[in-house]
Amino acid sequence: MRARSGIPDVNPQGVETLLTHAGRTPDDQHGFVNTPVYRGSTVLFKSLAALESQQQQYLYGRAGNPTTRQVEEIVTALEGAYDTQLVPSGLAAITVALLSCLNSGDDVLITDSAYEPTRTFGTQFLSRMGISARYFDPHLAGGIEAQLQSNTRAIFVESPGSATFEIQDLPAIAAVARPRGIKVLIDNTWATPLYFNALRLGADIVIHTATKMFVGHSDAFGGTISTNGESWEAVKKTRSLLGFFTSGDEAFLIARGLRTLAIRMAEHQKRALELAGWIETLPGVRRVLHPALPSHPDHHLFKRDFSGSGSLFGVLLEPAPRDSLAAMLDGLTLFGMGYSWGGYESLCIPTKPARIRTAVPWTEDGTLLRLHVGFEAMDDLKADFAAGLNRYRAGR
Ligand SMILES: *Cc1c(COP(=O)(O)O)cnc(C)c1O
Repeated sequence: MRARSGIPDVNPQGVETLLTHAGRTPDDQHGFVNTPVYRGSTVLFKSLAALESQQQQYLYGRAGNPTTRQVEEIVTALEGAYDTQLVPSGLAAITVALLSCLNSGDDVLITDSAYEPTRTFGTQFLSRMGISARYFDPHLAGGIEAQLQSNTRAIFVESPGSATFEIQDLPAIAAVARPRGIKVLIDNTWATPLYFNALRLGADIVIHTATKMFVGHSDAFGGTISTNGESWEAVKKTRSLLGFFTSGDEAFLIARGLRTLAIRMAEHQKRALELAGWIETLPGVRRVLHPALPSHPDHHLFKRDFSGSGSLFGVLLEPAPRDSLAAMLDGLTLFGMGYSWGGYESLCIPTKPARIRTAVPWTEDGTLLRLHVGFEAMDDLKADFAAGLNRYRAGR
């Protein structure tokens, strides 16, 4: 599976089978089904010769242990990657991946629709390293060629974009980047490896926020970086140089979540689509931003490149004063208001893309909400949202 030359064309097994069996070695764990939580810093060597040769699988706990390794093996199998590095958070996956391919004097293009802390890392950290971070229109596709400079070394894609849900034409971007040796990185958290195969569509480095769908229960942090053969050594080395360590406790919860990822995603997909389609019909709703709905402007790209959709979508409401929004959100009893997403519980939070966009200003007025659809009874979710919308509209 790990041919350095490239990515295998077809996963030898179905994803459900990979999720159930990948990364597990019961024979090494006294027959127990699951790899337990390994906690440890020191790893012992049996002889001076073993210490000198450094051939043991584990040398020091910071670089990983069997619990963290199983997560890397599962995600590698899912992505059809050369290998995967587990790191302590989704944001750490983004920063390590970017630092693995950028040096002082380089330039990186980041989608204008990226997760806000990704942008902040560009403007407040990379800039201090003498690396220019520029932001591009998420709809540029092959037109990104005109944005390239001689020192552009990486393009960072997130599809669909956080909060605004634009789909990016990854194959077209990769077709421009590949011949020039420019690395294409993608934050693939929304679709998971199940519904978007980023390496096969042209990415070099795929990032997942394990905190979201992999964990699935809002109780652990993690991030993964999966790469093709050419990008692997730099990612591994950057993680090691920066000293990031992921605990066996977090890795255990990520592995536990991954075992049920396929059935959870199928259910999230179904529920999010039903709720999004229904919200579209409600009075006071301007637009629903869900790439799997035919009303979405990038639906053709979604249909071409994705095999399914996630739990998260946007709802644009007609404008109303802040008090109306407070009445709506403060009175919701099932949708919680909080950062992150991917758990079994539904969430609804307002977002303000106009505050951060630079390449393509967000000009739509109205209130933008971001919904994550969990596993509550659908009728209960609809009733909660409809009552909230009534409070919102009453105050207009
Ligand atoms: C949450 C999120 C991240 C960051 O993940 P953390 O584990 O919170 O650091 C990155 N990208 C996307 C798209 C996210 O939703």
